[in-house]
Amino acid sequence: MRVPSSIERVLLDEETIAGRVRELAAQISADYDDADALMLVGVLKGAFIFMADLSRRLTIVHHVDFIALSSYSRGATSTGAVRLIMDTRASVTGRHVLIVEDIVDTGYTLDYLLRNFRAREPASLRACALLSKSARRQVDVPVDYVGFEIPDVWVVGYGLDYADRFRTLPYIAALKREVYAR
Ligand code: 5GP
Repeated sequence: MRVPSSIERVLLDEETIAGRVRELAAQISADYDDADALMLVGVLKGAFIFMADLSRRLTIVHHVDFIALSSYSRGATSTGAVRLIMDTRASVTGRHVLIVEDIVDTGYTLDYLLRNFRAREPASLRACALLSKSARRQVDVPVDYVGFEIPDVWVVGYGLDYADRFRTLPYIAALKREVYAR
């Protein structure tokens, strides 16, 4: 495995991620077994690989849709201000909606999304995040399905980037602190 020099260490390898995604998909499939078609809403760009793998492992009828956000981040520092820049194609009203996020850090983004979607009166609304940095939480936001708890480091790979780089690494790795710290 060739690891770029900006990478500090690999936190989660391909097999570990695939195993956990299978478990999450089994749990979600069981939880929504009785519900009408589930609507997965992936948050671009970071969740695109997780969304693709998770959705293919679900054994229940479901639809996929996407949203995109602008988070006014400064490098690795989130300012907490979030804005929806691309909405779902389909209406979420009356649907069972599961928001699929790459990572919950301070919680501002997911908190904004849950409030935004709740206002549209879905039949149900839950959130699934591949990663969570609970130690950094600023907002007490509910995350119904969490893949992995990770430490307070900037991670890249499996959809996650730094300045739009490293997204397509097959594993999740911590970036060297000198690359993102200021
Ligand atoms: P929050 O609003 O919870 O602070 O941040 C959520 C968003 O910040 C995530 O959707 C992601 O875009 C970005 N983010 C937070 N931590 C990381 C990280 O370690 N790596 C990457 N690539 N993005 C992160």
